[in-house]
Amino acid sequence: MGSFSLPYRIPSISKKRLLDPHVAILGAGASIASCPFDKNGNTVPALSNIHKILGLTDKLQSYGFSEKEMENFELLFSNIVGVAKYSDLQKDLEIAVRDYFQSLQIPDVVTLYDYLVLSLTEKDAIITFNWDPFLLQAYLRNIKVGNLPQLVFPHGNVGVGICYDCKNKGYAKYLCPSCMKPFNDMPLLFPIHKKNYYDNSIIENEWEVAKDYLSRAAGITVFGYGAPETDIEAYNLLKESYKKSNITTIAPFSIINLKSEEETQKKKWSEIYDDRMFLFSSSFKESILWTSPRVSLEHLFDAILQQQPRSHTKSYRDFETLEELHNFVQTITEFEMAI
Ligand SMILES: [Zn+2]
Repeated sequence: MGSFSLPYRIPSISKKRLLDPHVAILGAGASIASCPFDKNGNTVPALSNIHKILGLTDKLQSYGFSEKEMENFELLFSNIVGVAKYSDLQKDLEIAVRDYFQSLQIPDVVTLYDYLVLSLTEKDAIITFNWDPFLLQAYLRNIKVGNLPQLVFPHGNVGVGICYDCKNKGYAKYLCPSCMKPFNDMPLLFPIHKKNYYDNSIIENEWEVAKDYLSRAAGITVFGYGAPETDIEAYNLLKESYKKSNITTIAPFSIINLKSEEETQKKKWSEIYDDRMFLFSSSFKESILWTSPRVSLEHLFDAILQQQPRSHTKSYRDFETLEELHNFVQTITEFEMAI
């Protein structure tokens, strides 16, 4: 190489296949958009109404908490953690939350999570901050299609089982395939102001995986994740890891969130995207994962780097059944780039 260098790296391609991942980052908004109600009519609670949905109001009142204090579960939980007189309460809250989330079941109809899981491939990753099991349940019922993304859970998840002896990760309630003992529950990282992502081997490992994907990513989609001020540590980790990819001037940065959040979100992430590559959608069905499922980055890079736009695109449409969705997805085989 001479002195010539590009201000960004070009995508990594081997044998005409793109190697760089498209990484989706999910927050509560994604689960609410995908499964507003579960199979039995239950909802994913927001932190402001979690005490009501989980039936914890009376218990919290008995400890002297006001209605106003209960509405900020994050602050409330933060304040009781590690305080001796609240140790029983802390345990009760943790158990109630886990039991509730564990009971949630993905509806039988095709959900946005089915489309999402199938819109990415095995080089890609979905990093979710959600505790609910919907994404994992969607993954399971689409697994036969094959070539699916890696799932990463940096706040823990009720659907994931762990074997500490064999260092295996699998589905909660299943047996570890190595030692045949039942999996342990994956710990949930509860909302506390100062999160320490490095004091727990499982959570720390999830972050290592997340950081690795982000540092190699050539496309990011942030779906229903507001990057709350209370979790500044997660936001910084995501940002710093993605900066290492050194590709932001040509990589798409998409945000899917409520229209009312557009300006705030745009500003929040502005440090790590190029204006020309920024896309905002108020619905998953307007995102590039919907318009070019499984080949979202290939599609874009062929057009902007090779100036060889693909002749036709297989966009998602609304399918009535999972079988129809699977049949459609199996027709998407255009993984080779024009390069
Ligand atoms: Zn084991």
